[in-house]
Amino acid sequence: MDVDKTKCKHCGSENRCFTEQTIIPTSGDEATSHMCVNCGYTTTSLNKEGSDTVEQYEESTAQLIKDLRFIDDDKLVWYPIVLNFPSVGIVFPDGANASEWNWIAAKAVDVLDDEKEKYPVPGSDGEFYKRRIDMENRQEFASNDFYSACKSVGFILNEELA
Ligand SMILES: [Zn+2]
Repeated sequence: MDVDKTKCKHCGSENRCFTEQTIIPTSGDEATSHMCVNCGYTTTSLNKEGSDTVEQYEESTAQLIKDLRFIDDDKLVWYPIVLNFPSVGIVFPDGANASEWNWIAAKAVDVLDDEKEKYPVPGSDGEFYKRRIDMENRQEFASNDFYSACKSVGFILNEELA
């Protein structure tokens, strides 16, 4: 599918917001998604202020992410993204409140044989994860430096931007 690089409504950066048609896996609905690699904010055309989509999302979302929501001039609600790829790493916003927060980035590492008992796969007897997120060696990045946070764990967002 085509990806357009557009101006981000949240941070205003040019050509760094990836906009594409997408199908929402849970509902099968078609939507336009926006994901900005500059500020780390994301939304879809279904995230209308006051909609069930927004309500359901916020039921299972950390308070900080809700506090950081941004509503654009089309009444779409944007949130900072949580990237969680268990075999690669994780990037997520963390902090005391909406004016005092950072991006946390942590890489995945191999689970060693003698520690595997600590990482059982839920519901699968005798199976253990091969990779784990190394939170002890997590790094913090300023709230305006999402791109460096992603780079530090090896997420390639766009080679042209590197
Ligand atoms: Zn942005």
